[in-house]
Amino acid sequence: MAAIETSGLSKRYRRTWALSEVDLTVHAGGITALVGPNGAGKSTLLKLCVGFERPTAGSLRVWGLDPTRDRAGAVASVGYVPQDPSLYRELTVEEHLGFAASLRPRFDAEHARSRLRRLQIPLSAPATDLSGGQQAQVSLAIALGTRAPVLLLDEPLANLDPLARREFLTVLGEAVRVDGVTAVLASHVVAEVEPVCDRLLVLGQGRVLLHETVGQSLAHHRVAPEGAVDAPGLVALFPDRAGAFHALVRASADAPATRPATMEEIVMGYLSAGRAVPTPGAPGEAAAAVAVAS
Ligand code: ADP
Repeated sequence: MAAIETSGLSKRYRRTWALSEVDLTVHAGGITALVGPNGAGKSTLLKLCVGFERPTAGSLRVWGLDPTRDRAGAVASVGYVPQDPSLYRELTVEEHLGFAASLRPRFDAEHARSRLRRLQIPLSAPATDLSGGQQAQVSLAIALGTRAPVLLLDEPLANLDPLARREFLTVLGEAVRVDGVTAVLASHVVAEVEPVCDRLLVLGQGRVLLHETVGQSLAHHRVAPEGAVDAPGLVALFPDRAGAFHALVRASADAPATRPATMEEIVMGYLSAGRAVPTPGAPGEAAAAVAVAS
């Protein structure tokens, strides 16, 4: 079953096409890493899926429902974790759970409570007394307490330290494995999310540049020296951290004079390829970068 299905999904804010002709199927189960630079359209895609925004064109189904037409269905089917946990400073953790239960009749407070207890987060503490990592865990526990089958997380790791990020990803990974939740996790930190992700979805300039499983991606990409500009399957030249350029190629493991690509290199390669595409005036214009990816 598809957890998310879009066809020609486009969103315009005034003159900016935040998303252009996105055709996407995210199968149920697992964690999809949603990566791309600032302004790529990650938040817009997630907000459309939650029903916070309406598409300008195209169609969208989340867990079989159109989130703009069926608000009650979307509320029951989709949990959302924003970058900054939207907690009330003066309310305790337990009061937040009570508040969530008052908004959603099916809210499973005990499910949320047991996760927080295991993390030794005091339920009687006001939000202001919690660390950033603990606040993020409260936000995640509330989203998991909704028992929604689809969980959308909009850069929840951005303001966390490395240890808090790891703990957050451990809890998320467990929820996906044990409860069968389907998660889409927007993040900048490619290397850190890689161990817990099943699929990779790269967005650039509002378009899908790459969408496949992490296993497929690692198996199908290699890195060649910069001189290999006419290598078969060339995706793009991309810079490493020291500024030296390498070629990302779509090739099998026996391609000569290549080495395996890391997930970070694959993302860099597709973002570099996407940057070469001129900004469209309208969503109907061709997406050359998608052709590269397909
Ligand atoms: P990301 O989450 O990848 O950083 P966004 O989805 O936030 O990207 O933004 C995609 C594009 O849409 C950007 O150019 C951004 O400036 C624009 N955008 C997003 N939200 C709005 C808005 N409410 N009003 C106008 N422009 C917006």
